[in-house]
Amino acid sequence: MALIVQKYGGSSVGSVERIQAVAQRVSKTAKAGNSVVVVVSAMGKTTDGLVKLAHDISSKPCRREMDMLLSTGEQVSIALLSMALKELGQDAISLTGAQVGITTESEHTRARILGITTQRIERHLKEEKVVVIAGFQGVASREELEITTLGRGGSDTSAVAIAAALWASCCEIYTDVPGILTTDPRIVPQAQLMDKITCDEMLELASLGAKVLHPRAVEIARNYGVPLVVRSSWTEQAGTWVTAPERGGRSLINLEIARPVDGIECDDSQAKIALLRVPDSPGIAARLFGEIAHQEVDVDLIIQSIHEGNSNDIAFTVMTPILKKAEAVASAIAPVLRNDQSPETGEAEVMIQENIAKVSIVGAGMIGRPGVAAQMFAALSEAGVNIQMISTSEVKVSCVINAAECNKAVEVLQKAFEIDNVKDNITQNKAKVSALLPPVCGVALDMKQSRLAIRRVQDRPGTAAKVFGLLAKHNVSVDMIIQSQRCRVIDNIPTRDIAFTIPRADAEATQKMLQNAAKEYGWGEVVLDKAIAKVSIVGAGMVGQPGIAAKMFAALAECRINIQMITTSEIKISCVVDENQGKKALQVIHEAFGLSGDEIFVIPA
Ligand code: ADP
Ligand code: ASP
Ligand code: MG
Repeated sequence: MALIVQKYGGSSVGSVERIQAVAQRVSKTAKAGNSVVVVVSAMGKTTDGLVKLAHDISSKPCRREMDMLLSTGEQVSIALLSMALKELGQDAISLTGAQVGITTESEHTRARILGITTQRIERHLKEEKVVVIAGFQGVASREELEITTLGRGGSDTSAVAIAAALWASCCEIYTDVPGILTTDPRIVPQAQLMDKITCDEMLELASLGAKVLHPRAVEIARNYGVPLVVRSSWTEQAGTWVTAPERGGRSLINLEIARPVDGIECDDSQAKIALLRVPDSPGIAARLFGEIAHQEVDVDLIIQSIHEGNSNDIAFTVMTPILKKAEAVASAIAPVLRNDQSPETGEAEVMIQENIAKVSIVGAGMIGRPGVAAQMFAALSEAGVNIQMISTSEVKVSCVINAAECNKAVEVLQKAFEIDNVKDNITQNKAKVSALLPPVCGVALDMKQSRLAIRRVQDRPGTAAKVFGLLAKHNVSVDMIIQSQRCRVIDNIPTRDIAFTIPRADAEATQKMLQNAAKEYGWGEVVLDKAIAKVSIVGAGMVGQPGIAAKMFAALAECRINIQMITTSEIKISCVVDENQGKKALQVIHEAFGLSGDEIFVIPA
């Protein structure tokens, strides 16, 4: 007999008929001899309706009252599902987050789970009852029972956390699609179903906009080794397994917040090539990286910062042994990348920097926690280490620094995050493993981001720590951090521009906050662009495979889509494009990587 946690999303319990269908499935699982815990979301679009009601009353509703309101949706569906189960002769009991002792931080509307007391659930399971638990909610204190919610889409998180706490044999997420597809079928109906995906890949996809699984749920699955499968509640299809490493000895105390970083990596044999003043027009990145791929040069990180006038800077890193070859390619192509719009800028300038190192912090637990990256930057700053490039992903934050400072950097990071051992030369090792995997497993579109840029911040240790420390203090999650390659000296101090993307909902308030900081610290203007879209490709097989970036850029170039920003991590490449071109960009990239199939997915109404 197995213990199974099943989670049903809003669309799966959107009507009386749907609740009855879910009850059938649950009771069948129980009748087969399993202990079943069910986590449900609010019916259909109930939560959206409640949010709208709140905003009809108040333009800025208090977050505590929002939690009181939004948590009611799930209470309706648990009661109805229990009734439906009893109608089928299956004994069941519905319980709220408070009743099963889901304790969280006191951060209303985005609380993280600290712990779950399992005794009551276990008692009811022994009585052969199906336990139906309200997803998305918890309580901040066991005494005052202050209701909190986990953030939109949070029922996935509740389900996986409960599965981890109960040591369930698996957690099944039931939704309105047959599993995890190569992209959102609502935008690309030719998207294809995957039979499995790694946790790291899913973490990236989920946080880059694939809403099918909440990224925090994937974090918990990875950290606690919970076998996780996404399936349709309409069919019997097998769905998609999210493969997690085996369960280790991780403690359940402070479930979602303990140890966000569980590893440090360092690669001190890298070199950086920057091309300054390349034209800001469609096709440039495609040409550059097309030529680089043609010469079989494997690039690691790529960044393209925001444009200045009508030109861009693009920088990338390679392993030291192939620097000469990469340099030759870059130098050969630079004269071709002339800026026709402003001939006076001349041809692109190639800048080489040898002896750089990439140090990274690794772990699942950084999503939505800007404080973790800020802590890394602060530790480096305290050690006097200057950060040249930053690459962020959901499982890793990497900083490119001077190779001479590598040991010092690793030492302070080990201390800051309490990590014992450090992995060396990781890029090369991973390349061997990844050669067996398809380079791209999925693509995603995120239309909920905005871009902020701060002009002319001082290029010296501590700047990133200051900027991202401030953002962390205001709980603003940052993605795609890019510093410009061009350096401007003002009053004898070298300065650069720094740009990053943040959730659109936080855009104006964050701009205002940074404008005040800019006055204090002598930074330049703080520029906001809300009309952006971010398209990304994800795949564990792209490490060590030349030409993946080139293919993505070429697909965009063919449709004359201009790339405004580029960032990469080991297993993803993201481009910022104009908001109006986001959907088109997603479609052409999906096609370019051969992810489209003949089967067309129809999502139940
Ligand atoms: P639920 O209510 O069950 O939690 P969601 O609406 O949160 O369901 O998530 C399911 C939706 O996620 C699908 O209807 C689909 O439009 C969207 N989606 C986005 N990206 C993907 C993807 N890569 N694979 C599957 N579905 C995706
Ligand atoms: N009902 C909540 C929401 O709509 C939680 C969830 O469905 O996962 O966000
Ligand atoms: Mg959902």
